[in-house]
Amino acid sequence: MVDRVYLDNAATTPLSPAVSEAMRPWLEGMFGNPSSMHTTGRVARQAVSLAREQVASLLAAEPAEVVFTGSGTEADNLALVGVAETFAPGEFHLVTSAIAHPAVLSTCDYLTRRGVEVTYLTVNPEGIVEPDALRASLRATTRLVSVMAANNVVGTVQPITDLARITHDHGALFHTDAVQAAGKLPIDVRAQSIDLLSISSHKLNGPQGIGALYVRKGIEIEPLVHGGGQERGLRSGTENVAGLVGFGRAAEIARLTLAEENARLVSLGERILTGLESSVPNTYLIGDRYRRLPGHLCLGFRGCEGEAIRLLLALDASGIAASAGSACSAANAGEPSSVLVAMGFDPIRARGSLRLTLGRFNTDADAERLLEVLPHAVDSLRPTTSHPITA
Ligand code: PLP
Repeated sequence: MVDRVYLDNAATTPLSPAVSEAMRPWLEGMFGNPSSMHTTGRVARQAVSLAREQVASLLAAEPAEVVFTGSGTEADNLALVGVAETFAPGEFHLVTSAIAHPAVLSTCDYLTRRGVEVTYLTVNPEGIVEPDALRASLRATTRLVSVMAANNVVGTVQPITDLARITHDHGALFHTDAVQAAGKLPIDVRAQSIDLLSISSHKLNGPQGIGALYVRKGIEIEPLVHGGGQERGLRSGTENVAGLVGFGRAAEIARLTLAEENARLVSLGERILTGLESSVPNTYLIGDRYRRLPGHLCLGFRGCEGEAIRLLLALDASGIAASAGSACSAANAGEPSSVLVAMGFDPIRARGSLRLTLGRFNTDADAERLLEVLPHAVDSLRPTTSHPITA
């Protein structure tokens, strides 16, 4: 494992050593139910409070506005269903984008089956939601707009502050799925006019199975999970203290190192992109060249788009972990990516993307190794032809 090059950080990230160190006492002896009155419970409660402060700071939110959940998926569900349930179905119109994560799209399917009307905004060829498209979609019954901060497949960063302001001018709430963006791009929920925001620990070098929903003070939502009233009654169930401690520490590290990590990943990503553009003929970047997550490359190789899975397997055999489209679509390997289809790609090209996503532990040596291996891997997959590929 040590020698492998991991370039799939959008799928999940390795735990930071400082995070496992913070969690260790809670896995090896310390315990306690944060709801208990005694000292053991109080210590656990303090640990959860610290984690809440750390996650809130990453978002420039107040600790009381953070609701811990069991994943980013659950946070998305809580945002959409939690707001929808405060309205009668016929009075609730929801707007999202065609390139939202399945955690949002499947929740929209669920709400549709319950009589909610949903509009899916189209995106431009770079994968950006245009503010005019949002303006045109708004109706008297539009109560919630949900647009992701950055896309998990192509890495495109959305103009969420503009979209949130348009939403507010209309009197609706704005939710953003910031699972990919948090820890990589600065977030200030007030300055960006965000009402609800989803975040996930395992995308920022924290443990898996922990997430949070930011709910701006004063917004009422209905819980999905009922029980003992933890998380202000919005997510009952005894807290995963070790997981929360890890999430909090990971959020703190992400906040303290955000600017330098962002710059480092932008430059490492550029190095890979320019290296591939010069060594692999017909390489193209999918998505917006500039409005993109740092270190997030979604690439196509003209002439071998039908071979994405073979390309991944060839990289894997050389010790490089990458992905085609999103990890969530691994079960649908070989299917066209719905994100790329929404961006206007034909079904063949929409099947053929390679996603390389860099993270905190990637080094220059990883970039070098990829630049050594990938050109050969692509070359071996190209159909042999005596004609130059011009399309
Ligand atoms: N939203 C986006 C944009 C994601 O990329 C993911 C995970 O890939 C999720 C939501 C789901 O988060 P989790 O894996 O914590 O359920």
